Amino acid sequence: MSPLADRYGRRFPYLRLSVIPACNFRCTYCLPHGYHADAKAAEPLSLAEITRLLRGFTELGMHKLRITGGEPSVRHDLTEILRTAAAVPGVTKLAMTTNGTLLTRRLGEWMDAGLNAINVSVDSLDRALFARITGHDRLEDILHGVDMALNAGLPSVKLNAVLLRDVNDRQLPAWFDYLRDRHVGVRFIELMQTGDNLAFFRDHHVSAAGLETQLLESGWQALPRVADAGPAREYRHPDYAGRIGIIAPYSKDFCAGCNRLRVTATGDLRLCLFGEFGIPLRPLLQADEQLEDLVRAVGGQIGRKEQGHFLHEGRTGITPHLASTGG
Ligand code: SAM
Repeated sequence: MSPLADRYGRRFPYLRLSVIPACNFRCTYCLPHGYHADAKAAEPLSLAEITRLLRGFTELGMHKLRITGGEPSVRHDLTEILRTAAAVPGVTKLAMTTNGTLLTRRLGEWMDAGLNAINVSVDSLDRALFARITGHDRLEDILHGVDMALNAGLPSVKLNAVLLRDVNDRQLPAWFDYLRDRHVGVRFIELMQTGDNLAFFRDHHVSAAGLETQLLESGWQALPRVADAGPAREYRHPDYAGRIGIIAPYSKDFCAGCNRLRVTATGDLRLCLFGEFGIPLRPLLQADEQLEDLVRAVGGQIGRKEQGHFLHEGRTGITPHLASTGG
């Protein structure tokens, strides 16, 4: 079968799968009061359901998979999920986004299971500020886990930092020090408005344009984009081992490069992080014999993918916070 393409000629080799909506952090911009389970919510997809889902998506041309959440490591069978995902024919890149709280303890088993890329959220390199943003004084242990991943030769290690006006938006010098000798990428993400964070967004959203100007003035050079890359514009500098990426969802043409689909922890297909609807795939994940129906259902939805999100108009779709959809 030829790879899935939408009305705008975009292809989707990249799936982001949330495996649990729960998170153990209380990031000010996402879950400031912590995660509260909805007693009526369905259970996250089982291992068998995830396996069928991935077989369907690989039929449609997916080869890069990112496991996310919530916080994926909150899920007790995460290692099994990784092992199963890595074994699905066609999955060539298995990535995970995590807050890194279990990295020092679990890295070895995750790598043995087949994980080959990790993104760790580190909003600040300042211990007190990190604790203030996330609600947890865990920076040191998390950075130790990142160094372990680098030393263990994990092929891709990246850090994510959400840019917050008047909170962490003047910390480039500390990041430069960090990147000088580490083969790690840090990606600064512009804060996105979600259903729950409007007041916070108004106070703290800042465009990454100023940061990019500073990078260029400091000798960093923009790199060309590769085919199945994520959404970042990448920069490098001859004096630094590390790289810097900018994720600017409010910038012009951001969605033209969209190459990913999402599935929530309970199996809803989301064509866009900020879409207005989710299509339940779970009923099509109950038996191996449903593979063709699944492939047809997902293929049939792609024509509904919009050209772009409507964040500029403040339309955040059905996403109350990114933990709910899978950031
Ligand atoms: N718990 C994992 C983690 O901490 O990376 C995975 C899920 S988290 C929702 C994924 C990423 O989304 C994190 O890097 C987080 O900082 C980012 N994020 C959450 N809410 C955001 C928002 N409103 N705007 C931009 N990025 C956001």
